Amino acid sequence: MAVLQFGIFVLAAGIACAQSSEGPQPPVVDPGGPGKAPSDAIVLFDGRDNSAWTTMDGQPSKCTVANGVMSCRTGAGDTRTKETFRDAQIHLEFNLPYEPHMRGQGRANSGVLLHGRYEIQILDSYKNETYATGACGALYGQSAPLVNASRPPGEWQTFDIIFHAPRCAPDGTVETPGSLTLLHNGVLIQDHVPVRPRKCTTSEGPLVLQDHGRYVGRKIATAKGVTEGAPDTTVQFRNIWMRRLNQ
Ligand code: MG
Repeated sequence: MAVLQFGIFVLAAGIACAQSSEGPQPPVVDPGGPGKAPSDAIVLFDGRDNSAWTTMDGQPSKCTVANGVMSCRTGAGDTRTKETFRDAQIHLEFNLPYEPHMRGQGRANSGVLLHGRYEIQILDSYKNETYATGACGALYGQSAPLVNASRPPGEWQTFDIIFHAPRCAPDGTVETPGSLTLLHNGVLIQDHVPVRPRKCTTSEGPLVLQDHGRYVGRKIATAKGVTEGAPDTTVQFRNIWMRRLNQ
């Protein structure tokens, strides 16, 4: 009998709890799927054209589009979205060339720059060691990836980014640090790491894809030693979308 009474008590408490937590229903989002963005996302590249992108000075992007893929070759320059954002969930897919003649930072170096300033490194880190805060998926110079989840060059890879921008005080100091969470090929490699700018001037900006070739004169390691300048590299992108957060 005592057991029955206890059961009735637990049931009643559960119903009361469920009733007290009622609230607005979450908006319905079609989650999409492979190659398809969620229904509430801003599509930045769906394979058809790169009209959502420009050069850094606002000219048409010099990356080319064919067969559903955007190809950015050394010399195209950094390419940026017309859209700017503050906090966002971002998905993108990339495919790196195999450059066995290069080493370390020289091998298929690109990057995704949040707000055009916080670089998530894109690099061929498959069986290619470099300093940890410069490896693929590093918040460059600040936070090494937890693990190396790289696929070999020639295979499509994914980044899923959750970024909360730092909030800036009027005097240029950081009011609230930002944060970065990153999944590389579905594997968690940055777990809510702090993002702190040297000088906090804005909490908004575009998404930028890096053309590492712009670092003309920088020493690049090759299989035969060290040379000047960046190699001729073409990095491919597809299925890029963003969902604004907290807006
Ligand atoms: Mg880079």
